[in-house]
Amino acid sequence: MKSAGKPKNLKQNNSRAVLEHLRRNGACSVADISSSIKLSKTTVKKVFDSLVTSGLLLSAGKGDSTDEGGKKPELYRFNKNYGFAICLHVTPEEIIAVTTNLNAEITFETKLPLKKNCKLASVIHLLAGTIRGFSEMKAATGERLIGIAVVLPGLVDPLKGVSIYTPHYPQWGRDVPFNRMLKAELGEGYEVPIHTENANRLQVFAERAKGIAGGCRNFIIIDALNEGLGAGIVLNGELVLGAQSISGEIGHMTLDPRDGFPCICGHKGCFEAMVSARRLCTLARKARPGETGTKLDVHSPSLQLDDICSAASLGDPLALRLIDDVASWFIIGIGNLIMVNDPELVVIQGVYVKAGDFFLNRLREGMRAIGLPDVEKKVRIEYSTLGEERGVIGGAAYITAEFFDKQFVF
Ligand SMILES: [Zn+2]
Repeated sequence: MKSAGKPKNLKQNNSRAVLEHLRRNGACSVADISSSIKLSKTTVKKVFDSLVTSGLLLSAGKGDSTDEGGKKPELYRFNKNYGFAICLHVTPEEIIAVTTNLNAEITFETKLPLKKNCKLASVIHLLAGTIRGFSEMKAATGERLIGIAVVLPGLVDPLKGVSIYTPHYPQWGRDVPFNRMLKAELGEGYEVPIHTENANRLQVFAERAKGIAGGCRNFIIIDALNEGLGAGIVLNGELVLGAQSISGEIGHMTLDPRDGFPCICGHKGCFEAMVSARRLCTLARKARPGETGTKLDVHSPSLQLDDICSAASLGDPLALRLIDDVASWFIIGIGNLIMVNDPELVVIQGVYVKAGDFFLNRLREGMRAIGLPDVEKKVRIEYSTLGEERGVIGGAAYITAEFFDKQFVF
């Protein structure tokens, strides 16, 4: 997670504090901010003047006069269209491509389907073409591009911009210098930062900026796809990366090494294998027709995890049995994560959000029985309110924070 950084001087520090307050609270007057962040009115006024000159603040009319009937104060608001970010999320099925404003709100979105066997060069070509197209589209608005986020599946080294390995696109190979290749394909005119990172780790920024983890300093997001499970871990306000950028690969924590379902990594009983669509559909097909009174078409080759989760939320008996089974593995997996990391909040993202109250309540109940049962664990477990754009929103939140922390000169 982005730290507050090390401002070069007091002016920058004050400017960042004022801007942050305006971004969070909307239109404010000098007096509002002065009392909220404990800076003198003279100092806040100076910062306002400087931010108005740079284009980051806009006039927002006049506020209400004081109880004593004083002059109506001038209000100002953050100019969220001062610049824009481009975020591109390569998922196992498609590229979700968006532009966002400086409040990490999506201003334009398009989706480009990807074939399972797509080549690395074609994906890089597609991403570069999309970036150029977005830049041309924005050229007339005067908004400046502040940065680009590329969100990838699999293992990523964000410090080097390298895709270490992705099981969804194994044909790309290992240790792919993704950032360097994209920059080369883009050519000149794109000197802004390009941040390439793993989807789960970027999604913590989405939960913090736009989701339910605002203000949390210790939290974990867990994202489940049809095939694949990962986490982003924030401890003491900082995103955990690890020695070789493996932190968050919880899908391959072993939960049942002897009898567990085979995982795509070659082991048995990995967390993601035990909660995968492959395993649940296999279990569903073992149910005898009519045995359970289910409405699920368990023999349909197109049966998806989505269908099972949705059926469970409607009380389908077979779907409930399957989700109950999955919940028992989540309880072990999340319980282990809690004992190692001690978060205040665990956010469930992805497909299991559709399983509704039954699944969430099972997880919450299960937390009482994990290690040290006599010690009350105050950790909250909640569903994410963000949809499939959580990756690009996370990218936008990261890029914007970096822009104000490291690039913009106040
Ligand atoms: Zn595995």
